[in-house]
Amino acid sequence: MDANGNSVDVLAIGAHPDDVELACGGLLIKLVNEGKRVAILDLTQGEMGSRGDADQRSSEAEAAAAIMGVHAREEADLSDTRLANTTEQQRAIIPFIRKYRPTIICALMAPDRHPDHAAAHALSRDANYYSGLTRIETGQPPYRAPRIYYFYPYTELAGAPPCVVDISDVFDQKMEALRAYKSQFHNPKYNGPSTHISSQEFWEDIKMRARYWGGRIGTQYGEPLYTETPLLLNTLPGLERDGG
Ligand SMILES: [Zn+2]
Repeated sequence: MDANGNSVDVLAIGAHPDDVELACGGLLIKLVNEGKRVAILDLTQGEMGSRGDADQRSSEAEAAAAIMGVHAREEADLSDTRLANTTEQQRAIIPFIRKYRPTIICALMAPDRHPDHAAAHALSRDANYYSGLTRIETGQPPYRAPRIYYFYPYTELAGAPPCVVDISDVFDQKMEALRAYKSQFHNPKYNGPSTHISSQEFWEDIKMRARYWGGRIGTQYGEPLYTETPLLLNTLPGLERDGG
């Protein structure tokens, strides 16, 4: 998919296909439904996963993107299990930030038990910073997204998040997008080695986690987000809710 050079409102950057869906699939679906332009950048193809291969995972990612209705999905072609916050890898990401010129980037939070996730946190943040420097030349105008929100695909390690997005009305669509990853998640029809994320327990945990965060904000399902910089408020969130 390609955005034909058009800017997006939000660029979500994951280490592996399915990170974004797990962590903020509901948020992205909501934004698309509101008419916002959304793109996804997968830093690797997830080719070191125990189940499925790179081609299969790419087609699953495309199917999930279509279910979510995002405008573009790209792969940075970095190596799975080898993500590191290096100059070389930052330079591989900068062309995508300059192509899509997102108002907001959503990226992985750290610390995380998966080393690729922790690396992608620093890598996405620093690539965005350097993307704003004129002297780093890619043949595109420099651009730096003014704000980054961070997410966890599996489980939170860093205490209570500053915000939780109500995804109750799009939760079913999020789960449908995740089901597009036929080789990765619980799927009795798929023949492959068992992994943590392919277990029935993990599938049930996705719902329990969304339910937990929904409960924390008084809705059915939620997705937590983190920030490293203060949030700007023009009004008090919560004033707009009926009977809240
Ligand atoms: Zn991942």
